Amino acid sequence: MKVELKEVHAVYSWSWDIPRSTNDGSIVEADDDEDVCGICRASYHAPCPNCKYPGESCAIVAGKCGHNFHVHCISRWIDTATSKGLCPMCRQKFELLEGIRLNDPHKTHFKEIEAKRFREIQEQIEAGNYEALEEEIPPIQEDVEMS
Ligand SMILES: [Zn+2]
Ligand SMILES: [Zn+2]
Ligand SMILES: [Zn+2]
Repeated sequence: MKVELKEVHAVYSWSWDIPRSTNDGSIVEADDDEDVCGICRASYHAPCPNCKYPGESCAIVAGKCGHNFHVHCISRWIDTATSKGLCPMCRQKFELLEGIRLNDPHKTHFKEIEAKRFREIQEQIEAGNYEALEEEIPPIQEDVEMS
């Protein structure tokens, strides 16, 4: 009998260590598998709609607000003007949760998006286009004293 190997289906067993912020500020590991990405509604353990395979290439990032997303979904979202840099679930400013390994590879990327948005807003200010900025200003200037 001749056996011809036509295709190999590799089966990996893995899962993300997704942290969960608790009310007292400590971080615990999420233990349920029910969690889905708030943007594409796919499970954290499945890839986003634009990727074929889950895992490192379609990573999950954890937000300070306690919401987690595929890095592709959330970076595309906060890169849009309509997002205003806010979490689509709770409308708080979306920032990566500090001190967890999951987010480390993505910090630079998110800083770049934030810097780009900041530049866009400055360009609007320079152009005197304040109307377009009305809703943009508060999240950026939250630390600046208004005179
Ligand atoms: Zn997603
Ligand atoms: Zn993806
Ligand atoms: Zn959120």
